[in-house]
Amino acid sequence: MMDMFKEIVNHCIRLGLDNNISTLKKFSSMFYHELDIYQIQSKYKLTAMSQACGRLSQMKDSIKKGKTVRSPFVRKPFLVSCYGFKINGMLLSIPTGNRNYVNVILNDYTTKKLSEDGIKPRSFTITPDLLSICIRKEIQEITPQNVIGIDRNLRNVTISTPTDSIMYKTGKLLSIKENSQFVRASFRRNDRRVKNKFFTQQRNRQSSRIQQFLHKISKDIVSRAKQSIAAIIFEDLKGIRKLYRKGNGQGNRFRRKLNSWSFYELQRQIQYKAAWDGIPVMFVDPKRTSKLCPICGEQIQEDRLQLRKLLCNNCGISMDRDVVASMNIAHKGWSRFCHPRGLSGEAMKGNPGNFQPVILRVDGSKLAST
Ligand SMILES: [Zn+2]
Repeated sequence: MMDMFKEIVNHCIRLGLDNNISTLKKFSSMFYHELDIYQIQSKYKLTAMSQACGRLSQMKDSIKKGKTVRSPFVRKPFLVSCYGFKINGMLLSIPTGNRNYVNVILNDYTTKKLSEDGIKPRSFTITPDLLSICIRKEIQEITPQNVIGIDRNLRNVTISTPTDSIMYKTGKLLSIKENSQFVRASFRRNDRRVKNKFFTQQRNRQSSRIQQFLHKISKDIVSRAKQSIAAIIFEDLKGIRKLYRKGNGQGNRFRRKLNSWSFYELQRQIQYKAAWDGIPVMFVDPKRTSKLCPICGEQIQEDRLQLRKLLCNNCGISMDRDVVASMNIAHKGWSRFCHPRGLSGEAMKGNPGNFQPVILRVDGSKLAST
């Protein structure tokens, strides 16, 4: 069945390429009867068509982005379906026609996950040695009572929660990248195939090490947000790469370091982990976040005595600049999304005790680092 499914998908891709169609609706109305030659249940024909269309539209997107593409082709046998399958306890039953089923035994972990509250299986993908089940969970977004601001830097990620500020050191990411660059540079053999293979291996190793490192941080941040019922606020770093383009008068090493800064991966991980728990994630403009005092709102100056510290003349407090930025981001997010100005008067009337001054309680000098 998997072999046949693969053939149908490839057949569909060929048809789609010949007629320049990549939408499922058009495709199924034009070519559904061409698939009559295959002896398989019609639901699998539908999913095969949608698989083919997905690949075709992906190719179109890549062409739009200006990449060179090869026409898609499926090499390995596989089967995808979202219709008619059942999960009974430990068994996944896949219908094969004439009321016959193929049963697959699921392992303990999968059975446990599937039996959790509110989880519904939506579709499955099976290959000769792999089975993956796609699940859906219905969640209600929480109403945030606090905010957590996140400031991302090259060497650290700083968050400010309602009670304290935490700095995660990310200098290790830089050393991972440097090491892997060093290893790649030391490659000497003059064989393109071996070289390509080696480089791919090294790149995969590097990215999985970075991902693993960031997973720890993102998990911790999301669990903190869940604990304190807080929304997560990021600074919007769109267009940051433009600052470090060639010809901007910066050195090669500097540009390489900043352009390999993996700020987006942390954001991606936090976004999906937060979505799974119903925690809202929002973005604010990073402008002036490290220029104003988070306590009084006055202009803040560099501390001449200590590196990377900022001094407020009004309050007389010297604080770490990353902590200042994360507190300002949290503050911006709070006033922007959780307390829009127009409504605040009304919202206060009913529950005056509910208001919490988020920023004022933060003590900049108390810094826990992990
Ligand atoms: Zn101040």
